[in-house]
Amino acid sequence: MTPASQKATNVTWQEGLISREDRYQILRQKGATIWFTGLSGSGKSTIAIALERALFRQGKLSYRLDGDNVRLGINKNLGFSEADRRENIRRIGEVAKLFGDAGTISLSAFISPYAADRDEVRRLHEDADLRFVEVFVDCPLSEAERRDPKGLYKRARAGEIRNFTGIDDPYEAPTNPEIHLRTDRLTVEEEVSAIIGYLERHGIIESGLPDEWPSPAERGPAAGDAG
Ligand code: ADP
Repeated sequence: MTPASQKATNVTWQEGLISREDRYQILRQKGATIWFTGLSGSGKSTIAIALERALFRQGKLSYRLDGDNVRLGINKNLGFSEADRRENIRRIGEVAKLFGDAGTISLSAFISPYAADRDEVRRLHEDADLRFVEVFVDCPLSEAERRDPKGLYKRARAGEIRNFTGIDDPYEAPTNPEIHLRTDRLTVEEEVSAIIGYLERHGIIESGLPDEWPSPAERGPAAGDAG
């Protein structure tokens, strides 16, 4: 049956000749969505960036879907009203699902304040038989506000930004996340290790792979693309 939210009718999913398992095999990993959720300044981007690097060094393909980057592109017509926040998350969820089907480990770093929206993205993945790993990036508001890496809390307190999560918009904490990180108590390294450990235990990546891939900095600026 066509869901009420679907405008186009008479559309069906077209299967190709190469399966998801085929793609997983050439990448030597399984596709998955790591979904970071937490207050602004809680550490979502910091952890996603460090995790991307750690995975890269193990020869694993991941791709960050990050707040501003997405809002500059696919979601540039969306603001911060409740309806737009919902649509923002829905679209990111669909994009993450495509990445997972392609075999990539996508790292979604968005506040995603509403539990119902996160649950919908989870359901979307479960229906498609794709792994969804919700990571609660948990940091007390007072600490996030003290960090204030982009100066946004200051502006929200001054009334320059409205509907700011934690100040005048709600944040609904996950009740049963796959991974719960207290970023006021852990180091970034410990947080990354916790996620890598989860991915290994759940067969998304192989465990014990050597740290054999050089980081971009170690590889040097011109390596790999000479000529
Ligand atoms: P978000 O993406 O959730 O808005 P950011 O990652 O942009 O948050 O900012 C988090 C800030 O907190 C950064 O300045 C980071 O260096 C700092 N920070 C301090 N300790 C941690 C930690 N354990 N984990 C993640 N970030 C931390």
